[in-house]
Amino acid sequence: MTNKLVEMAEKLSEERKKDPELSARMEVAAQGQAPRYLMISPIRRSSQDLQLFNMKMGDVFHGTRVSNAPLLPHAQSPVLFAGPASYNQGFPEKRGVILTFDQSEPESIIQESLENIVLHPDLEGLPIIVFRVNYEQGLARIVAHGKGRNYEAENWLLSRVEQPDPLDTNTLVLICSDSRVHPPVTPQGLPMAIQTLGGYLPEYTGTKDETSQLNKFFEDWLSQKEVTQQILVVAHGNFEGEGPSCGAGQASLNPHDITNNLLRSIIIELENAAKPFESVPPTSAEDRVKSLSSAIRKNLLTYPAVNESAELKSRDFIKILLMDTVSNVLSTTEV
Ligand SMILES: [Zn+2]
Repeated sequence: MTNKLVEMAEKLSEERKKDPELSARMEVAAQGQAPRYLMISPIRRSSQDLQLFNMKMGDVFHGTRVSNAPLLPHAQSPVLFAGPASYNQGFPEKRGVILTFDQSEPESIIQESLENIVLHPDLEGLPIIVFRVNYEQGLARIVAHGKGRNYEAENWLLSRVEQPDPLDTNTLVLICSDSRVHPPVTPQGLPMAIQTLGGYLPEYTGTKDETSQLNKFFEDWLSQKEVTQQILVVAHGNFEGEGPSCGAGQASLNPHDITNNLLRSIIIELENAAKPFESVPPTSAEDRVKSLSSAIRKNLLTYPAVNESAELKSRDFIKILLMDTVSNVLSTTEV
């Protein structure tokens, strides 16, 4: 299964290099990222949202929300919401926040998410663009609201809508919010994805915060008891010799240099989580994201729903992969 993924990523990368627009994107990506949108998608629809709006490498900084649950206030959602939103604050060409909802999600979830979006200090003044989506038919419609809109961006996004490929509900990818890395396509389709800074997932806390929402997500998903269900932890960075590292991984080497308080506390958490998996201090962001991947796998197993399921599943239920930031080529690792 993983070999097939590695093969597919390699092939897609070769195709991108032959496409003039996409190879130009790769050249820009090698210099850094300046995404114009922060997009927050339901976990189930994260990869499909990129295709729905025809978003390519570098276009969106990507956060995720538990499907069928509202975005929580940032203090209750440091990893899923606060971190990506605070990191996004540093980009120079921001146009807005895109929020998508599955058409079956109740109106109250949209309203509550909107209330909490505007309370995040690092999103102040950014237009919020809300869509309700029928993913099966590739139809999106704008949700009107009074929290600050950008009609031009709304129309531009609507003009790009196309039907996404089918969902692979057996694969969940944990990957960085970085606009240059997209969840890898699987032989079955577009995987579900959780996108956070460094692809980090916190330990289950047992309190009513983002981790209880995540446990509910794992419970619903893993209760399907599909033997082929798998979780891929994808660390990204300069794995092909030259190119950019994971920004969050890099920042976690010197978190006390970060001036934004919200962002600093998340990055310190990444550092603290990774350290127990480092026998010597990391000399690069690539070393750091590898140890962070081991921490993520350990944290995943603190979720009751994941732990229970892991005992019944194969050794490869949670697998770590490395992705090159620019080529998006995958490799396996023995960390
Ligand atoms: Zn990253």
